[in-house]
Formats: sequence, structure tokens, C-alpha cells
Amino acid sequence: MPKLLLITASSREIRNVRKSRFLGFQQITMPYLAARVPDGWEVSHVDEEAEKINWDIEVDVVGITFHTPSAYHAYEIAGRFRLREICVVLGGPHVTLVPEEASQNADVIFIGEAEGLWEEFLKSFEAGSYQHVYQQTSAPILENIPMARKDLFHRHDHTSGVLFATRGCPHECEFCTIAVMYCRKFRKRPVVEVAAEYASFKGKVIIFWDDNISADMKYAKELFRAITPYRKWWSSQASIHAGRDDEFLKAASESGCKQLFLGLESVSQQSMTGANKGFNHVEEYFQIIERIHSHGIAVQAGIVFGFDQDTSQIFEDTLDFLEQAGVQNATFNILTPFPGTPLYRRIESEGRLLTCDWRKYNSRHDVVYQPKLMSVNELLAGFQYANERFYSLSSIAKRLSRSPAQLWWTLPLNLAYHYRWMLSKRSQKSS
Ligand code: SF4
Repeated sequence: MPKLLLITASSREIRNVRKSRFLGFQQITMPYLAARVPDGWEVSHVDEEAEKINWDIEVDVVGITFHTPSAYHAYEIAGRFRLREICVVLGGPHVTLVPEEASQNADVIFIGEAEGLWEEFLKSFEAGSYQHVYQQTSAPILENIPMARKDLFHRHDHTSGVLFATRGCPHECEFCTIAVMYCRKFRKRPVVEVAAEYASFKGKVIIFWDDNISADMKYAKELFRAITPYRKWWSSQASIHAGRDDEFLKAASESGCKQLFLGLESVSQQSMTGANKGFNHVEEYFQIIERIHSHGIAVQAGIVFGFDQDTSQIFEDTLDFLEQAGVQNATFNILTPFPGTPLYRRIESEGRLLTCDWRKYNSRHDVVYQPKLMSVNELLAGFQYANERFYSLSSIAKRLSRSPAQLWWTLPLNLAYHYRWMLSKRSQKSS
């Protein structure tokens, strides 16, 4: 029986970043791909966020998925298995964005989504011949998708289930990899299939791993009504459009939505317009957040610093806004021009790219381009300031007293972040 090892690769540096942000959510690419493996294969999965690779394992094929900052680490893994003459297959976001580089480090690469081609490759491998490159030429229809293999979920996070309902996003924000990877083809799974997978999880807390659950409002409302009877709690990413529609929010709340990760990105309208995200109207942010809170849903704001229109004033302005609006959680990122995106091409053509060392494309510790209206050090210091201020006790008190939405878990989570930042500050000082 042929044996297949799937690896969700994550470098040590990225594991540290994720741990410091409690970002250990189960990744679902490999459990979904495993469900598509033809009969007769023995499949195992190593998720490096949760376990180590057994280098002596006897397998016929190793498949690795990874994001840009873990690229060199994934190539090292590939190299070690290839030394043993094991066929190594690479796929995932970085391979799709930079296929030429990945192809030098693998026997087989997958460009784009793997559905259909993956099964074809495994059958060809069994027959003794296969191609070096499998490239998706059209966006796969997301119907009759087998449920992800739960026995290959390994992360011990606080969720009991992770799935997806939609893939892609119809928007074209300049910095976003999603728009590039899925060629702006937004697709939906049939509601009935999503609801069945949602119901199949035993526990209460579910994450929809969608890029933008509010991309099709009609579909989203239909989905929320279908999952309401299961009385679970869920969270997902959404664009600002989610907060403009009371009917969407009511249906979401009734179906168990406890938090939306909202792509606010910036409190500077100029920055939003410059990033081709002018549909984010900064002047309505307060109203949007208030409306989401009024449905009992907490907000996790996605914030990016370093747009070309950002000056060093942006950090204070952002924190003032988050505190006044009573935003419960936030994820701060340093703008990163990921390869393949329009932002990367523009920054490169302007001669402002500082490095192509993918390890530094982590959006947290490094700045990989020359910002326009501030220095690299100002951007790094501002990022640090934002995190420290957001998770200070006074900011936690201000923000959470403004909105009681989901206080029972947003308060402990904020306090956990507070102590995490205090510890990391202390260790920085002593090192
Ligand atoms: S709305 Fe979000 S997911 Fe869609 S293109 Fe913009 S940043 Fe990407």
C-alpha cells in the first residue's frame, strides 16, 4: 500500500510569532486534501505547529504546504526527504505566488488550487509516471467536497471544528494575496453541504476559515439560517460590508456568531484609497462597530501599519480610535508586500524593496520595504507601541467598558495578552 505523508510546514520563527498571538488555529488545507486521496493509500499528517517530523518515516510521497515566511524551512524539509529519493510535492500559497522558486526544490509542484489535479497526480504516481508541474487553469467548483479528515486535526486550540463555506474574495486590495491566489474568483459551497460539515463537529466552538464570509450577503444569510439549529458558536473574517447590514448581523448573531474579524486595516481614508480599499469608509467605522456590538458580536479589528500615506501619527490615531470605539481585540500587522501581489510589483518598481529574504516576510518583526513617510525604525517602534498600548490595563478597561459584548471571554483573553506582552518586554530587557 503506498504511503503519503502530508506536512503543514511552519518555521520556528513563525511558530514563535503565532504562539505570542494565540494564533494556533487548526489549518485545514491538509485535512481537506487527505479526504481526496484515492482508496488504497495510507495517509499521515504532521502539523508543525503541534508536532515534530519523524525523519525516519517510510513513505512514498511527501506533500508540503506553506506560507511565504516558512518557504526556506519547507525547502529544507523537502531537501531532506529528496535525499532519501522520496517524491516531494510542494503546494500552497507561496508556491502559487512564486512557482519558479518552488519548482527548484521539489519533484512536483501544484500551482493554484489542488482539487482534481491532486487525485490525478496520485493516480499517475501509482502508475509510475507523473508531471513536474500541475497548474489549475480554472477555479474549481466547490460542490461535493468531502469533509476534512478530523482524525488529521492536531492542534490543541480552543476550537472544536474548522471548516470553510466560501473561497476567495471579489475585491482587489493592493496588498492582499487572496485576490491573487484565487484570481478574484469568489466561490461558495452549497449551503446544505456546509451545514452538514458544521453539524458534524462534536464541540461548540467553530471557526469558518473563510477569506470574507460577507462577500455574498444573500448566501451568508442563507447559511446562517441553516446552521442556527445546531446552537454552536462561531467566528470568521469579514469585510466592512458585514457591519452595514442589520439583517446579516441579526442572522449571524442568532446562528451563534460571537466575533467577527473585521478588515478595517487603517483609520486613514487616504491609506485605504491608496490600497485600492476605498470601500472602507473611515468616517463610518464608529457606527459600524456600534452596530456589530448591538447584535452582541465582538469585533477583532485587523489593522495594518505602513501604508504609503501613513505618517508616524497613524499609531496614536489608531489606538485612540480603537479605544473610543470599544474594540475588543485587534491584530496588528506591518504592511508586507507579498510576492505576486500588485503591492509587491509597485514597491519593487519604485526600488523600495529592502530584502527578498522570505523569513522576514512575517508582518510582525521585520519591515521589508522602505516606507514613504516614516523610517523603518519608526514603523517598528510604532508597531510595538500599538501592541503595548492596546494590551495595557488602562486600554483594556477603556475598551471593554465601552461595550459589554462577549465580556466573559474577551476580558480573560485581553488579560492573557497583557501578561504575554509584559513577559516579552521583560525578556527583551534582560537579553
Ligand atoms: S476585502 Fe479582504 S480578503 Fe478581500 S481582497 Fe481585500 S483584504 Fe483581501
